[in-house]
Amino acid sequence: MRDFADYLAQFTSHLTDDRQNIQKPDIRFINVQTKFIFVTGGVMSGLGKGVTTSSIAKLLQLADQKVSCIKIDPYLNYDAGTMNPVAHGEVFVTEDGGECDMDVGNYERFLNQNIAKSHNITTAQVYSSVIDGERKGEYLGACVQIIPHVTDEIKKRIRTIAESEKLDFLVVECGGTVGDIESLPFLESLRQMRVEEGQRGVIFVHVTLAPSLDVVGEQKTKPTQHSVQELRRIGIQPDFLAVRCTAPLEVKTKKKIAMFTNVATNDVLSCHDARSIFEVPQILYDQGIMDSIFTKFNKVGMVNASENWDRWNKIAEDMTSHKGRKVRIAMVGKYVVLADSYVSVNHALKHAGAQINRSVDIDWIDSESISDYSILSNYDGILVPGGFGTRGSEGIIQTANFARVNNVPYLGICFGFQLAAVEFGRSVLKLEDANTTEINAETKAPIVDLLPEQRDVSDMGSSLRLGANDIRIKKDSKAQKIYNSNLISRRHRHRYEVNKKYIPEFQKNGLIFSAESDSGKRMEILEIPDHRFYFGVQFHPEFNSRPGFPEESFTAFIGAASE
Ligand code: GLN
Repeated sequence: MRDFADYLAQFTSHLTDDRQNIQKPDIRFINVQTKFIFVTGGVMSGLGKGVTTSSIAKLLQLADQKVSCIKIDPYLNYDAGTMNPVAHGEVFVTEDGGECDMDVGNYERFLNQNIAKSHNITTAQVYSSVIDGERKGEYLGACVQIIPHVTDEIKKRIRTIAESEKLDFLVVECGGTVGDIESLPFLESLRQMRVEEGQRGVIFVHVTLAPSLDVVGEQKTKPTQHSVQELRRIGIQPDFLAVRCTAPLEVKTKKKIAMFTNVATNDVLSCHDARSIFEVPQILYDQGIMDSIFTKFNKVGMVNASENWDRWNKIAEDMTSHKGRKVRIAMVGKYVVLADSYVSVNHALKHAGAQINRSVDIDWIDSESISDYSILSNYDGILVPGGFGTRGSEGIIQTANFARVNNVPYLGICFGFQLAAVEFGRSVLKLEDANTTEINAETKAPIVDLLPEQRDVSDMGSSLRLGANDIRIKKDSKAQKIYNSNLISRRHRHRYEVNKKYIPEFQKNGLIFSAESDSGKRMEILEIPDHRFYFGVQFHPEFNSRPGFPEESFTAFIGAASE
């Protein structure tokens, strides 16, 4: 990172010759007004706009800037809560109970900071506010229109976050691809903000693709040219292009793109394939993106951030290179056809592996189609993540049984916790009919039942028990050893819970509930002390896991699996 330190030195050398003595947090920009970076997408979806957004934010954070991200989702769902994870990827739950797009999880992991649900803006939220306002008479007789009323509401939401969080930089990712009908009001709002804030207040980064066809062997620029034309047609001239490609973008390709798009050659950035997403900030940095961002914003006076870089480089390296013994994990769940359905769980396993020097190999197994459970003996550990509904649930119960009986390390999350309790009820307590009322409402042994406050809920949206709650852990339990604490806070997303009526029978037979929440009303952790590692959690530990700071239950699970 010598280059970066040298670059910074030019801003700080007037302060002192000895950079060691710089008072780090005190030297901030003179102008404290938030600068906005808007990231748009071109050519097609799936190019990694989220990673580009997170990486730019990370670089700014490494330069000691106060930064956050927003994800705009132009779809008509109010939030991601009602969306099928197999089609759209995981629903990421924030501390304040937002059911957000999975990109918000990427931001949290890259920045190692919590993001509030207000940072995931959707068309439904914006239109609901405008329509509510109209019904209350707030528009004083005006004809309510997309411009200015909807666009004002969008800008207000973005600026409120910038101001209330006193950010130096706010990086806003607009979902979808330029040309989509749905994203037009959002792009229009971003365009207006550039006019209102000026060139020194807003810059645009457009993410595109330069494919290379094997036969021609040349990086093609036409998709990027067309995509920028489309963007310019609606009044947005990008300042940077982040061009996805397999091999690094050649200089002649950069020059050609620059000429056709009015973007400086140096600001056409190659986003070529990397070993891991954690290398992307460095790839962008090496092409001078920071230099260029600070020049465009006319910002001087940054602090020396080389220590930040040292810390980040260590984390990025640990997450990228696979050292140590391989640990094979079977992830048995309902939504395994798309790896993104459990993206935070996948990441959390990798964070834990990196921490204890293990390389984690994950196989996703569909709980609906598994018939021969002996295949599970090929694995060092079994993880059952969250899920909803009947389909595939018997497969999960059998999986929990296999892990318990064969002493294979087991981590059950939410549904995986509830169905482990059901399995124990059936096999050990001999309650043949045991079940969760989510699957069998008529069961004689409702080991897992609806949360009482859910009885009158009829809406699907935002109606589960959501967000962070305090959890009290019992003394001398495995949980207490794992967390090294009697009190933790973790995020939830569920409608059902363990029925307290059965707890004494469980405890008598060797399964302990070692943590609770809401003054003892809800069971949060189950464990079997006589097992190598049989651990179930009602909460979602994966949402709190970050590179370099794995969530403790994952570290303990990978540790047990590698013994
Ligand atoms: N379906 C279960 C419930 O609603 C578990 C939810 C989950 O796994 N997130 O309680």
